[in-house]
Amino acid sequence: MRVTEVADSTYLLDCSEDVGFSLSEVAYLLVDDIPALIEPCSTTTSSKLLERSRDFGIKVEDVAYIIPTHIHVDHGGGAGYLSRQLPNAKVVLHPRGAKNMVDPARLVSATKVVFGEDFEHRFGPISPISEKQMLIAQDGEIIHLGRRDLTIIFTPGHASHHISIWDSLSQGIFPGEALGFIADSMPDFPLPAAVPPFDLQLYIQSIDSLAALMPTMVFYSHCGARRDPELLIATIRENSIVIGQIVEKSLKEGKAEQETWRMISEYVKKKAGGDLPPEFLLGLSAYISYFTQK
Ligand SMILES: [Zn+2]
Repeated sequence: MRVTEVADSTYLLDCSEDVGFSLSEVAYLLVDDIPALIEPCSTTTSSKLLERSRDFGIKVEDVAYIIPTHIHVDHGGGAGYLSRQLPNAKVVLHPRGAKNMVDPARLVSATKVVFGEDFEHRFGPISPISEKQMLIAQDGEIIHLGRRDLTIIFTPGHASHHISIWDSLSQGIFPGEALGFIADSMPDFPLPAAVPPFDLQLYIQSIDSLAALMPTMVFYSHCGARRDPELLIATIRENSIVIGQIVEKSLKEGKAEQETWRMISEYVKKKAGGDLPPEFLLGLSAYISYFTQK
């Protein structure tokens, strides 16, 4: 496990080497009078987090709040497992996410569609969370930890039940996937994190609401913490819109999906000099279904 203090009393915990995932799942431990863990990640990762944190003298078992930004398997899939290991902790959830964690049957089916029937092999099972261990958050809800307050901000678009977390101590934001994902080859060029059912209009509104907070740091869920949020946020906004324009125009002109992919690749190459990562294939299908259903 890699442990890095990325801001005052804010630790990035990365177990990707231990679990052998190519795309890292990053958790953040906020140390305070009342400690909190943002992004429990998958069950595979969260069990590793508990096990390895002891070696580092980090007390994950003391956390009072487990806060997934959303319930997709690589962000909140381990919340049920962790809640059983930490029976005094509360899991903070959007009301729509909470419903699907009391009985995760629908979430399990949706996960199979995206990651295959055998997703548990990689991510581990998705366990339910008991209602008494949930804190169902409202938009703007404040959680006091001691030196710092966390504010829950609803940021739909990537998923209807997506939240971001504002941290008063670092003046930073934990955006989950609301500010896109960053491929290793293009560190300053975030791409929209689109999975069906993606809502582009809400995604852009969420980007705007986070930009308005003028964060000094962004704590990404897959690619670590960054201290240059202004340009990154402007770039994700522009990329989300331009890719939307390309897809919408292609659909109107009846172009094949491969042709649309080629046009997006060309845009990315021109702007960032890199290749459109293959992970974006799911993103393209999410954009296509957004415009087809609109
Ligand atoms: Zn997600």
